[in-house]
Amino acid sequence: MSRLPVARLSPDHRERPYWLDGLAPVAGAAAESAAPPGGADVVVIGSGYTGVTTALELARRGREVVIVEEHTAGWGASTRNGGMVLPELKAGFEELVAEHGPTEAHALLQTAVDAVELVDRLVIRERIECGWRNSGHLYLAHRADRVPGLKSEISTWTDELGIDARFVERDELASEIGTPAYHGGLLVSRGGGIHPARYHHGLLRAALAAGARLCEGFKVTAVDRRGSHLTVSGTAMAATAAERSSGSAAGTTRPRSEITASEVVVATNAYTGRFLPELHRRIMPVGSFMIATEPIAPEQAREISPNDRMFYDTKNFLNYWRLSPDGTRVLFGGRTSFAPTTLARARNRLVATMVAIHPQLSTTSVTHSWGGQVALTRDRFPHFGRTSDGVRYALGYNGSGIAMGTLFGHRMAGWICGDDPPPFEGLAFPGLPVRRALPVTLPVAGAWFWLQDHRAGRS
Ligand SMILES: Cc1cc2nc3c(=O)[nH]c(=O)nc-3n(C[C@H](O)[C@H](O)[C@H](O)COP(=O)(O)OP(=O)(O)OC[C@H]3O[C@@H](n4cnc5c(N)ncnc54)[C@H](O)[C@@H]3O)c2cc1C
Repeated sequence: MSRLPVARLSPDHRERPYWLDGLAPVAGAAAESAAPPGGADVVVIGSGYTGVTTALELARRGREVVIVEEHTAGWGASTRNGGMVLPELKAGFEELVAEHGPTEAHALLQTAVDAVELVDRLVIRERIECGWRNSGHLYLAHRADRVPGLKSEISTWTDELGIDARFVERDELASEIGTPAYHGGLLVSRGGGIHPARYHHGLLRAALAAGARLCEGFKVTAVDRRGSHLTVSGTAMAATAAERSSGSAAGTTRPRSEITASEVVVATNAYTGRFLPELHRRIMPVGSFMIATEPIAPEQAREISPNDRMFYDTKNFLNYWRLSPDGTRVLFGGRTSFAPTTLARARNRLVATMVAIHPQLSTTSVTHSWGGQVALTRDRFPHFGRTSDGVRYALGYNGSGIAMGTLFGHRMAGWICGDDPPPFEGLAFPGLPVRRALPVTLPVAGAWFWLQDHRAGRS
């Protein structure tokens, strides 16, 4: 670790998401100090894309809905991510067919594509100014032996899903990305970049305008069934305005509160705690980190990303990067380790990787660095369903939840109102039997992935 170069930090470097710069708070969200109501039709736990979209659609359909959030609205991954809206499932099509048969495999994959289209529709419908651009994505082969696998995916996109896709060979890659570091890439025309925090705030604004209530600083500690109703118990904090603007949940703890509801939706993804053990043992939270560079010269930005694609590569510890929505900075992210790490160490590793891919950034400073948690599941699928007690959940996005979280929230509201659930509803949700041993096993798993990435990695 000590061999890593130390990131060149700009004098105004901040350890917080680039996305929060200049972000105005959502009017009406300051009702956080309002006491939680005693009852509602639906309580939604978690205020990211999943929770807010659920609440928006329920409120539009006339339901009384309360979002409870331990911290401040959007505090979780929904304001910290890479802003890459991708129509992807982590499992490949052949794997899906082998496991679920061709019809269900197609339905699952089509849902991922529908999710991106839903983001597109909501941005227009709610007039959300979030720099959304459907500019496509490029999946880059970090080793020559990854090329055949990427080429074999083309027919899934074109034949199964009717989406333009082609392989960009190594000798023509300069037309797509300013680096010779890759062996080619799969270019898919669907998906693109968004300002994730502005998108989140736009959805929240719409949900509040539609009548949803938000209780910030409310930490759920239990959900219990009592006859035909569910009771959500927790501790509520009265946060001050200063604490609110810093995103801190500190404040004065109020007595325990209870909210009774006909339906409860868990939308806590990687931050799912022990309040529902049935879900907690199925989710593995893993850190993902990002850096933002200082503004770079326009010609440098054009060289790095001439067509404003979303980039990610085939490494197990994948790297993902893009230009900022205004096209002035490089935003670079990656899962640097399965083991707990510090932001400084993750930042140094990200800078080293970014410069190895784009040496033209070797003297560029970093202005922001930050991290958050992604939720891994054993089968790498997101999950949508009900616990044995009838508590509804939508979570487990495996690092790709902007589009899918939006779709799950939207479909969750419909499901509560009697519509069909998405095809994910029938999937078994396997547990992680070793969750308690994870702190011990994660570094071992991490070392294995590192070796896989580096085996012949310099070929
Ligand atoms: C660094 C990073 C980069 C990423 N990049 C991308 C990307 O480019 N594209 C993409 O599609 N996805 C990306 N993701 C993943 C994506 O951000 C998430 O999948 C998505 O935001 C999940 O949204 P959500 O609403 O389900 O959960 P979150 O936004 O995480 O919200 C969950 C909320 O639940 C609250 N909560 C938890 N427990 C309790 C409790 N007991 N009581 C009350 N509230 C509680 C938390 O405080 C949190 O605010 C990235 C994630 C990270 C961390």
